Formats: sequence, structure tokens, C-alpha cells
Amino acid sequence: MLFSYELLGKLFVFFVFAVLIVTGVALLLGAYSIRRHRIIFPNFILFMLYLFYSPSKWMCRVFSIKEEIVDEILIEVRNAVMLDKFKKKADRRAVILPQCMRHPQCRARCDPIMGYECTECGMCDIKDIVRAADKHNFKVFIVPGDSFVRKIIKSYNPNVCLGVACYVELTESMQSVSKFMPVQGVSLIRDGCFDTRVDVVEVIHKMEICDV
Ligand code: SF4
Repeated sequence: MLFSYELLGKLFVFFVFAVLIVTGVALLLGAYSIRRHRIIFPNFILFMLYLFYSPSKWMCRVFSIKEEIVDEILIEVRNAVMLDKFKKKADRRAVILPQCMRHPQCRARCDPIMGYECTECGMCDIKDIVRAADKHNFKVFIVPGDSFVRKIIKSYNPNVCLGVACYVELTESMQSVSKFMPVQGVSLIRDGCFDTRVDVVEVIHKMEICDV
């Protein structure tokens, strides 16, 4: 019996080491792919880093690497994998923005299903995104939380989705929404829960590529 426990212990340690090594390989491949703008083994990277998301972040902390690199890899690899399908869908395109991008004095009304209704007052960058969205046949949703994303998918039924959020939320949302439609994501350049910012040019560029 003692022998069995010892064997189990050894197997467990072996398993942990194997997971850490394979996760480390996925991280290295992901970082290399982003740096070289050439994605290598995307499905392996996505599978490993989603499955071992917390251990990946722990490994980054151990090696004093910013842990957001894990989210950055997952977002960029997912973007690369889904880009072609995203470009091809022409109707019912959605852009989903977080409500924290609104100006602190925004007076937009919140619809219980569709989220905030921007009046294009111009106090924040959302106005520019809304105008570009009109031009490129996207509908903008400004959502107070994840539950609204589910409502929008159900009620508007988009066939492509462009999401903006902080690293962690974007990683999670892209994973769940990509089961239903092609997605693209742009992470916030200033996060937090208040007065956040995104690179508007990048968001508009993602809409423009759909016109190709
Ligand atoms: S542009 Fe739209 S979202 Fe931004 S503050 Fe004005 S109404 Fe609110």
C-alpha cells in the first residue's frame, strides 16, 4: 500500500512537471508568434493556454514576466485564426464595447436588453466608433456586463462580433463567443472600471477589413 502511495506521488509530480513544460512551450510559441507576426501551432497554443490559464499566469509571475502576456497571446492568436472568416460575413455585424469607456458624465440611457444608447454627444471616443460603425455596417452595443453579451447574441443574433474589453474579460468573452461566430478582439489601452480607453484607430481598422 505504501508503495502505491509513493508511486501515486511520483506520478503526480511527473504530471505537474509535464504540464508546466508543455504550458511553457505553448507560452514560448505564442510569444514568438506575436513577435514574428506569424502564428505557429495556433490550436495547440489556444488549447494549452485556455486549459492551463492560471498555471500559465503563475509561470509568468515566477519568471517576472507581465502576466497579461498570456491574455495577449490568446487574443492575438484567436484574432489570427478567425480573421478570414470574420472578413467574409457581410450582414449583422456587432461591435461590443464596455460601458466603462463612456465619459463619466455620459447621459446615455441604458436599455435592459441592448445596453447603453449612445447619443453621439462627443464627450468620449465612442462617438467616433459609432460613426465608423454606421459606415461599415456594424451595430454598436455598449454593455454593462457579460450578461448583456448573451442577451445581444440571443436578440440581435450577429454573425460576426468585434469585442473591446480589458485583457482578462476579452480573453474570456472571445473564448465563449467564438463558439457561435467569428470574432475579433481589441484590448483596452487604459483599463480599470472607469473612464477607460481603446485605440480607436485599431477598432475602426478591424471594421474596415470587413469591407474587403
Ligand atoms: S459619446 Fe455616447 S457614450 Fe460617449 S459620453 Fe456621449 S453619449 Fe455617452
